Amino acid sequence: MQNHQIIKKRILTLLLLVTATALFMPKSVATTIILDFTTINSTDIYGAKTNAFDESIYGFSNMGLNDVINNISSAISNDFFGYSYAGLSAGKELNINFEVGTIGSGPSNGDNEFSYFQLGNVTSRQSYLGHACSGCALTSYWQGKVIGSIFTNNIATDLAHYATNNKELINLIAGTASHEIGHSLFLPHPEGKELNPGESDYGLMATGASQPSMPNNQRVLDRAFSNRNFDTLITRLGLRDVQIAAIPEPSTILLLLSALLMLVVKRKIY
Ligand SMILES: [Zn+2]
Repeated sequence: MQNHQIIKKRILTLLLLVTATALFMPKSVATTIILDFTTINSTDIYGAKTNAFDESIYGFSNMGLNDVINNISSAISNDFFGYSYAGLSAGKELNINFEVGTIGSGPSNGDNEFSYFQLGNVTSRQSYLGHACSGCALTSYWQGKVIGSIFTNNIATDLAHYATNNKELINLIAGTASHEIGHSLFLPHPEGKELNPGESDYGLMATGASQPSMPNNQRVLDRAFSNRNFDTLITRLGLRDVQIAAIPEPSTILLLLSALLMLVVKRKIY
């Protein structure tokens, strides 16, 4: 009876320890990109100023601001996590996180490595679609900084007329954002079309400039990173097990628990 109580006590202690470990376990090191759609008069590292993202200038059909923002961020995530590539083994994904947030607030997932992109109406002199600091999302000096911008009013003015529906409008904005984020992860412009799993022969890092002189109507398609670019992303970011949530999976905790319980039982036997 006494032995039984001792074992019970040990099991309870182990349960507490495992729970505490699961709760306070250091989070996996990754880079988090925070997408800011709402800050008024924010400035990036190049001095480009933006106000909040304004969906009303695009002519979305029956979609409110939150809906549009959610669709853009989902499309960006899909560019990094949604396609199959030869270099991506089963159950693995790029070691990077995305979240919609506010400049200055830091990431909600607690990552130490993070940087911001502002997506909004440009109010300074830039007349192009966006820009980003090459490799800065992975360079310690630039952590916590606004390393790139997507000028959504310029995208609306220059390109919205190519789109015939909501999905194509989302592709225009998300495609530009993923392109700039790609630069911040060391991706260069390609010299031409590149093999990729998306809807266009042109990958996400293609531009309208020579080369590759991508026609603007390709921007409304759901483009993907080229196979070559994705190999670079794998090298730069590394891979992790596919994560469904940021918290440890219950199955992992259960496995650990049963292993520890078996240990207790074994010790008792010997
Ligand atoms: Zn570019």
